[in-house]
Amino acid sequence: MRAAVLEDHGEPLAIREVDYPEPGPDQVVVETEACGVCRSDWHAWQGDWSWIGAAVREGQILGHEPAGVVAEVGENVETLRAGDRVTVPFHLGDGTCPHCREGRANNCDAVVPLGLTGSAPGAFAEAFPVRKAEFNCVKLPDDVGFAEMAGLGCRFMTAYHGLADRADLRPGDWVAVHGCGGVGLSAIHVADALGAHPIAVDVREEKLERARALGAVETVDASAVENPANEVKAIADGGADVAIDALGIAETCRNSIASLGTCGRHVQIGLTTGEEEGEIELPVDVMTMQEIDFRGSFGMPLSRYGELFDLIEQGTLEPDAIVGDRLSLEDVPETLAVMDDYGTVGIPVVTDF
Ligand SMILES: [Zn+2]
Ligand SMILES: [Zn+2]
Repeated sequence: MRAAVLEDHGEPLAIREVDYPEPGPDQVVVETEACGVCRSDWHAWQGDWSWIGAAVREGQILGHEPAGVVAEVGENVETLRAGDRVTVPFHLGDGTCPHCREGRANNCDAVVPLGLTGSAPGAFAEAFPVRKAEFNCVKLPDDVGFAEMAGLGCRFMTAYHGLADRADLRPGDWVAVHGCGGVGLSAIHVADALGAHPIAVDVREEKLERARALGAVETVDASAVENPANEVKAIADGGADVAIDALGIAETCRNSIASLGTCGRHVQIGLTTGEEEGEIELPVDVMTMQEIDFRGSFGMPLSRYGELFDLIEQGTLEPDAIVGDRLSLEDVPETLAVMDDYGTVGIPVVTDF
């Protein structure tokens, strides 16, 4: 089968023939119908994350935002069968640690990230295996399409968990979203759907335009103003209640914190680049005196999919609205290259393998 393989960091991914996966006893093999292209793929491609011991090795098949159809079932798997329409979160849990047992595979003690480590080949391929399949596979409702589900992939669900759970979002809150890539636009849409007032901050007009279409009540072009955080404060009656760094660079992280009012909640969703190597200086005294929270947010607990599907069914959430270009597997290397300059709009999804 064909797959997009990381052969050298920074060099275009190779589209080449690889062996079709064999399911282990607890695994299934899923034939890929759609897979989102994400900034995490770009980080992996760049060779980032060595500072947390997680640099992706050469030879890896990337792709971690899939939806597809179960094709092969391991001998111990009873609750899934060929033909089931499924997705999996990018954080494949072991299903047995205390966090997994509480439904929080995103906090698993022995997490295996799909498409980012050797034991979990990714979904930029005609098919991919899923470890602990009964635990990790999520069956799709009939009315959720594959591309829509891939768009829901890591960014939409991360935005949902970040706002609904980690930020304790309340209707009427001002939410400043710094960086309007896939996760940022998802956060705008989710904040609007949950009754908050999202403010979009980015340096590109086409992303701000998309943000307005998705529910941003105000936008700030960070390339055109002296201090984006002050602009947010002027809009949000003294400061945002919730601010999100949806990018993971020092500037957006600090702008996010600086745009908050007293007792504001900063949610860090973006992981940092080779510039920061995981370290960002923060105004600790101001944060202490104003009781500003810094909260990390990573993926989404498996237990939250049901609520997310309900909101989609009701029409409150429309992950389809975030999906950008639909691509073929051959387009993946070039799409990653465009991310060097933050050139993609919305969530590009591979639908042709
Ligand atoms: Zn992703
Ligand atoms: Zn676990």
